[in-house]
Amino acid sequence: MSKYMGKCSKCGKTYYSNRKGDIIVCDCWKYCPLCGAEMQPYTPDLTPSFYGLDGKRDLHVLMVCMNHSPPFYSSQKPVEVVAHEKFE
Ligand SMILES: [Zn+2]
Ligand SMILES: [Zn+2]
Repeated sequence: MSKYMGKCSKCGKTYYSNRKGDIIVCDCWKYCPLCGAEMQPYTPDLTPSFYGLDGKRDLHVLMVCMNHSPPFYSSQKPVEVVAHEKFE
């Protein structure tokens, strides 16, 4: 049986599928690019001082890593990887 592969454009991780054109969501968007820890979902209703944003809110922020000072804010969206390349 043929297999198809696709690569995440963000982290380069390769995914395989038996179906051509299959879409796999890469989980790299959940992980901090600086320390590799799993980030917390960004919650805009927490006080801005908690996040150190000085009242500014970035609507694009999806995840936050609290291991850093100031915390690292990630606006990366889930990456959809399409298995389009024939593998074997
Ligand atoms: Zn990825
Ligand atoms: Zn981090």
